[in-house]
Amino acid sequence: MSPKPPAAGTTAVSDTSGSAAPQAKRPRPKKTRSEGQWAKGYREPLNPVERFKRDDAPLNVRDRITDLYAELGHSSIDANDLRGRFRWMGLYTQRTAGYDGTFTGDDNADLLESKYFMMRVRADGQKLDLDRMRTIAGISKDFARDTLDITNRQNFQYHWIEVESVPEIWRRLGEVGMQTTSACGDCPRGMLGSPLAGLAVDEVLDASPALDEIVRRYIGDPEFANLPRKYKTAVSGLQDLPHEINDIAFVGVHHPEHGPGLDLWVGGGLSTVPHFAQRLGAWVPLDEVPDVWEAVTKLFRDYGYRRLRSKNRLKFLVKDWGPEKVREVLETEYLHRELIDGPAPAPLTKVRDHVGVQKLKNGLNAVGGAPVSGRISGTQLAELADAVELAGGTEVRTTPYQKLVALNIPDDKVDQLVADLERIGLPTDPTPWRRSIMTCTGLEYCKLAFVETRRRAISLLPELEERMADLNSQLDVPVTVHLNGCPNSCARIQTADIGFKGQLIEQPDGTKAEGFQVHLGGSLGEDLGFGRKVRQHKVLSSELGDYIERVVRNFIAQRAEGERFAQ
Ligand code: SF4
Repeated sequence: MSPKPPAAGTTAVSDTSGSAAPQAKRPRPKKTRSEGQWAKGYREPLNPVERFKRDDAPLNVRDRITDLYAELGHSSIDANDLRGRFRWMGLYTQRTAGYDGTFTGDDNADLLESKYFMMRVRADGQKLDLDRMRTIAGISKDFARDTLDITNRQNFQYHWIEVESVPEIWRRLGEVGMQTTSACGDCPRGMLGSPLAGLAVDEVLDASPALDEIVRRYIGDPEFANLPRKYKTAVSGLQDLPHEINDIAFVGVHHPEHGPGLDLWVGGGLSTVPHFAQRLGAWVPLDEVPDVWEAVTKLFRDYGYRRLRSKNRLKFLVKDWGPEKVREVLETEYLHRELIDGPAPAPLTKVRDHVGVQKLKNGLNAVGGAPVSGRISGTQLAELADAVELAGGTEVRTTPYQKLVALNIPDDKVDQLVADLERIGLPTDPTPWRRSIMTCTGLEYCKLAFVETRRRAISLLPELEERMADLNSQLDVPVTVHLNGCPNSCARIQTADIGFKGQLIEQPDGTKAEGFQVHLGGSLGEDLGFGRKVRQHKVLSSELGDYIERVVRNFIAQRAEGERFAQ
């Protein structure tokens, strides 16, 4: 009789008696797969993006755009520059017009690109004086078919830009101290700052000097332009930013011994795998914020995962390490000193989009207006500059809720400016729906989109206003409605009361129609939490009005007194 083969998981060996006996397999040392972390010596690129970043520093594309591509035209652009390094200069290829519904995912996104670009201009929380406003408006009218959107990161976005125009656009922006450098790509993108920095009556401190210094020191420095993935920053002495969803955030807080300073948060981000930023429990004095920003950014650059594009935001490293280890590595390897322990800031109780009129600490006023989901035009911005000048103001800032706020308006000019903003299409007392709708770019221009978002919001708004006009007085808490065109979360759907994620929905006859997966009950601040994905709730674009009305009427009918939507 032939001997039986060893059972799976055992190995037949001879013992001293000579008889065969099964023995447990010795565990092999676990192979650790390289995540491409530079700090661990993995410098060999593990994907095509890492490769092109290594082959030529992304910011080098600036010179090629001015000296080569703008001269020779679109057909001369190298593919890795066109779909890769151009982003580091704020340029994305724009979706071709004439969408036919056959798009099935970003694997065929390149087929959809036109010869035009979307261009993003960094705001970095800066004030826009009259020159800046008129320059941005002029570029829109001269080179971008009068398009101009305010993004949910306070930036401006143009469309229809041709490569031949880019050097002149950069020249004009440069004259007023603005830039598109690192506005996209794996680098520190446009940073959030409080729209009322230095002016709000209740801010802990004016954090804008720290934000300005971060931009001055690090934007355009190649040392900080090859991070594992995009990197989002928020710095504010006032609780008016969505700081919980940034890679790094500094939030104003009073320390019982040291006074006003900023609380450090790291590892937030939405997209397909959302994470809220975590506090490191560290209080940072204002003048040390740029150094601490540099240290955290270098930690991300060196330890961040560079293998999978879907797993390389800072949030994944923070999740794996935990805040204690992040702080320890930050202190020992980068800062070479300990950070000061500090208290948590009080959570935000209400979204502050700065729409309407509010008093500033200098006795003047801020007057905020609401475009629909950030859509304005060069013409409107030029008119706004004229209106602000007429009202004795000199500056405007954008908000991360896609709004605009005019600063330092004297009491006796407020009514006039309010009337002018209404005329321009930026009402200061909008309906709850106009105020709360936010969208991403969507199918109109974005190659990754499945559905219309901004254009859909513009047509949806009058419908919502009419359907629910009777509810305006009962809606004492805002119900936010955010629309994304794809699973990326450029419009922050997971933190909206009602979030819509664009997708194509199969119809009974087998055809596909534009629609949305619903997420309900997301919130920032004191009700912090991601919206629940309600599996059965898939809504066709054509049914959005019905669906929103139904949800809101149910909420109003069933809520307890004072209850907010996310509770
Ligand atoms: Fe484009 Fe998707 Fe972002 Fe919308 S969420 S702008 S569709 S990538």
